[in-house]
Amino acid sequence: MEPCIFCRIAAGEFATPFVYQDSRVVAFHDINPQAPVHVVVCPRAHFPTIREIADESLLGGLIQAARMSARTLGLADYRLVINTGTEAGQAVPHAHLHVLGGRTMNWPPG
Ligand code: AMP
Ligand code: ZN
Repeated sequence: MEPCIFCRIAAGEFATPFVYQDSRVVAFHDINPQAPVHVVVCPRAHFPTIREIADESLLGGLIQAARMSARTLGLADYRLVINTGTEAGQAVPHAHLHVLGGRTMNWPPG
C-alpha cells in the first residue's frame, strides 16, 4: 500500500527541513499555515489517530517535540491542537499535533 503523506515526509522522501526530529518523532512547517508559526508534529511510525497510540512515552515525546519546536521558533505562547477523527477536523489520517503561534488565538475554536 502507498505510504501516507506524513509517512513519506517523516522518511525524508521530500527532503523536508525538520524543525525538530528524533528517533521517533519529526516536526515540520505546515504547508497551509493557519498562524505565523504553524508546525506539524508526528510520529515517524504510522498511526491513523492518537487513539491508536498506546505507548505513553511516545505520546509524551510528541508533546516534548511540540515544546522543543515552539522554543526553537521563538514562541513563548502557543496552542497545541490534535484533531482526532473527521468530525473533529482531522484531514490527514496519520496522528499529529499542530503547534500554532505568533498571533492572538480565539476561543472557542471553530
Ligand atoms: P488535520 O486537519 O489536523 O489533519 O491537519 C493536517 C494538516 O496537514 C493541515 O494543516 C495541512 O495543511 C497539513 N499538510 C497536509 N499536507 C502537508 C504537507 N505535504 N506538508 C506539510 N503540511 C501538510
Ligand atoms: Zn502515515
